[in-house]
Amino acid sequence: MLSDNTETGNEKSTVQRLFLALWPDEELRQQIKRHSKVLLSHGGGRPVALENIHITLAFLGNVDATQQACVEQVADRIQCPAFRLTLDQAGHWSRPRVLWIGASEIPDTLLKLVADLYKGIRNCGLELDSRPYRAHLTLMRKVNRAPAELNVQPVDWQVNRFVLVRSTTLPEGVKYEVAKEWGLS
Ligand code: ATP
Ligand code: MG
Repeated sequence: MLSDNTETGNEKSTVQRLFLALWPDEELRQQIKRHSKVLLSHGGGRPVALENIHITLAFLGNVDATQQACVEQVADRIQCPAFRLTLDQAGHWSRPRVLWIGASEIPDTLLKLVADLYKGIRNCGLELDSRPYRAHLTLMRKVNRAPAELNVQPVDWQVNRFVLVRSTTLPEGVKYEVAKEWGLS
């Protein structure tokens, strides 16, 4: 159960599945698609819908309204300049069975953004993934074996915002909706 409305007396508490992410605009989505054509032609996987591709910053999981407000305050207070991310690398992780693209050079600005978010979010009483953060954009799921060639034509991404996304699982697949966004200075 991923979304839940529970009436408690007069109070309505809403639990939603949320995450913070870098969210490409439409033009960039199209470019990513073009630049990873060879990679995507790899058989034996399920491509992520183009409208869904993103880079997760922090996965929050099921969050109630109070926790959400806390996370939004954390995001409001973030001081982070815009930065450029060059997606120039592809990879395959065998355990989650995903094919992804990412940046061979991760800007310190991105690491600081994630570290600041994590620190604030932990103070909201939310548990975060304890594994080291690895920025990546999943292109395909259920990929059992790495393609013979992991090539991607580099994509330059001028990152000037981050977003809060609501994730809902529907019979036809997962649906993401941007709930809020914050600009980077
Ligand atoms: P589905 O789970 O329905 O197959 P999904 O994985 O795309 O779809 P979510 O599970 O809501 O959707 O995850 C949203 C994003 O957060 C995805 O990028 C996912 O890889 C990432 N994510 C999910 N769980 C975690 C976790 N425990 N730690 C870090 N990132 C996570
Ligand atoms: Mg998932």
